[in-house]
Amino acid sequence: MSTRRILAMQEVVNRVPVEPIQPKKQVSEYFGANVFGIDAMREYLSEEGFTSVTEAMEKGVSLDRKIADQVAACMKAWAQAKGVTHYTHWFQPLTGTTAEKHDGFFEPIGGGRAIERFSGSQLVQQEPDASSFPNGGVRSTFEARGYTAWDPTSPAFIWGNTLCIPTIFVSYTGEALDFKTPLLKSLSALDKAATEVCQYFDKNVTKVIGTLGWEQEYFLIDAALYNIRYDLQQTGRTLFGHASAKGQQLEDHYWGSIPDRVLAFMKDFEYESHLLGIPVRTRHNEVAPAQFECAPVFEEINIAVDHNQLLMDVMQKVAMRHNFRVLLHEKPYAGVNGSGKHNNWSLATSAGKNLLSPGKTPKTNLQFLTFFINTIKAVYEHADLMRACIASANNDHRLGANEAPPAIMSVFLGEQLNKVLDEIEKSVGDKKMSPEEKTALKLSIGKIPDILLDNTDRNRTSPFAFTGNKFEFRAVGSTANCAGAMTVLNAIVAEQLIAFKNEVDTLMTKKQLEKDDAIFQVLKRYIIESKKIRFEGNGYGDEWKAEAKKRGLSNIPTTPGALEAFVTKKSMNLFENLNILNHREQESRYEIYLETYTKKIQIESRIIADMVNNQIAPAAIAYQKVLVDNINGLKNILSAADFKKAAETQIELVKELSERTNIIIKAAEEMREERKKANNLDTAKKQAHAYCDKVKPHFETIRYQVDKLEFIIDDAVWPLPKYREMLYLR
Ligand code: ADP
Ligand code: MG
Repeated sequence: MSTRRILAMQEVVNRVPVEPIQPKKQVSEYFGANVFGIDAMREYLSEEGFTSVTEAMEKGVSLDRKIADQVAACMKAWAQAKGVTHYTHWFQPLTGTTAEKHDGFFEPIGGGRAIERFSGSQLVQQEPDASSFPNGGVRSTFEARGYTAWDPTSPAFIWGNTLCIPTIFVSYTGEALDFKTPLLKSLSALDKAATEVCQYFDKNVTKVIGTLGWEQEYFLIDAALYNIRYDLQQTGRTLFGHASAKGQQLEDHYWGSIPDRVLAFMKDFEYESHLLGIPVRTRHNEVAPAQFECAPVFEEINIAVDHNQLLMDVMQKVAMRHNFRVLLHEKPYAGVNGSGKHNNWSLATSAGKNLLSPGKTPKTNLQFLTFFINTIKAVYEHADLMRACIASANNDHRLGANEAPPAIMSVFLGEQLNKVLDEIEKSVGDKKMSPEEKTALKLSIGKIPDILLDNTDRNRTSPFAFTGNKFEFRAVGSTANCAGAMTVLNAIVAEQLIAFKNEVDTLMTKKQLEKDDAIFQVLKRYIIESKKIRFEGNGYGDEWKAEAKKRGLSNIPTTPGALEAFVTKKSMNLFENLNILNHREQESRYEIYLETYTKKIQIESRIIADMVNNQIAPAAIAYQKVLVDNINGLKNILSAADFKKAAETQIELVKELSERTNIIIKAAEEMREERKKANNLDTAKKQAHAYCDKVKPHFETIRYQVDKLEFIIDDAVWPLPKYREMLYLR
């Protein structure tokens, strides 16, 4: 083995579990201890301050200056009591991670002395001078200042020694530069549209919130091995690696027992998460070796998104303490399942009623069906946008790879609900229903809750599945900021609910239909119109691809093509009409996503070439030399006839080694030429397509040869940790 690999393996073998710091207490004793939440506010703020802040939290209105000063002072006092010295505006730029710039509380006051200060204006707004975050041309560099503004709907928290204040990030001209700004606007559009529809059924509903429960999948790898794989370090995935003999075929990892070292890590990251008020509750092994999942109790979407972003950070930091690295990439290992982040989505009234949970009476079930069918219709109308919002260079490896939902958007409902929709379609006519007809229909609708209770049919292959009381958007990638997918889903459902309300109102006023009749008629039409998006079969099969094509559903396999849906007239109008993003903001986002795609492929391509030239080819040549020396030695001591026999296979091996080595070195060079050409193209769109169609295909060619080399070269000279070493945790 190469020296580095030997040392790393020794480290791995000698590991002992690190004692968890999680105290032996009930979670309720420390949950949210590092959050400036309701309890802390009540303790620290005046009556007036508390009322203003909670109102701002609920309604998203801004605070007046005096109150902001008071809140800032209290936050500081609370944080200082916990040893905090710095604060930061914490935001979510379009790079996909979170950003923070820490400032100290202290302020010199002359005479060599200093005090700690944190004012309302520092709380409410800041200029991070973040000129190097992507902005897709919205901010030209000379006016490079964006600013961050406090989002009072998500509580401040302490992470490390820093008070973190969740903020939005916008340009001076007011354009959104982050994920949070459009998310908040989409939530408010959804609230308004859904509340109006709720009024048909319950006049008491004044607010509707979106709920999200994410399920985060990830891999763990020992830090020592990670540290000598440049590909993992720089790209998050292995660019080479021969499949190990034992992969996931025995399915013995899924929900298997969790190794001690891993459990110690999980305990600690759950502890840290709980201090931060992130309600993680479940943990288990996933299908692939070294793959795991954690999931929280669902929360209001904005908070759930912040919590997921924060969790990804917490996991990485805690992992280091346990000598692990977390791989959040959608596809760290070829030939092994990748990671996703299911987004469980629903709607709830302020009174806590889940609108996607069938009720006990025909009336509440009509309400359920209204939201249920409108969601299906929305996904049907904007299937391409749903595809676009989950598109990334990483996720391209996973979608449609027989382990994850395909790139074709469809909705799974389950047999029973399909029957209900079929029944509505059959029994609702164009005219007013007779009282008997209505009673019959309502009776069958009234049966929904019973049916769902024993509804065990679950389809794991669908990208968007109804799972009893929520929709599960499964195509979201494991590194993604959930806000991207949630903003789209909220927006399309909001638009759909507005259209629905208009149509029902029109039928009621123009055709004098009763409310129920009008609702049934519109729902019936939606059921018919959106039928094509419903699919109950195996989403992984090739038959579905053929069937989807017949239905006219699109199947866009790669990111550059998928992203175009962001800038169609239909999508642009959707976001602009709902006041979520204007055309300029959308175009700039589209550019940023394309650029991000290009950069990712570019980096991978460079790393591949580096590794070929610096690690793989030298190993192949070194081994060739060993063989050649041996062959020459044999020639010296053996007769011609004996030599022929003895050296035959070795000579073949030498030929094979040099052939494969030639191919990879040449391909790496050709790939460089393609990069050059791509870099010279004049638009982000052309570049992304060139990287996808001209540069990326070389990855496969090279990888194929490298993996063969790994298979035939002496283990002693192979420089990279192998799959069997990385995927085995102890
Ligand atoms: P599984 O999908 O593994 O069967 P569950 O259905 O219990 O597990 O829940 C999965 C996720 O769905 C969890 O994160 C949970 O919080 C979330 N979830 C449950 N109910 C809702 C809801 N009404 N809205 C949003 N998410 C929900
Ligand atoms: Mg699930």
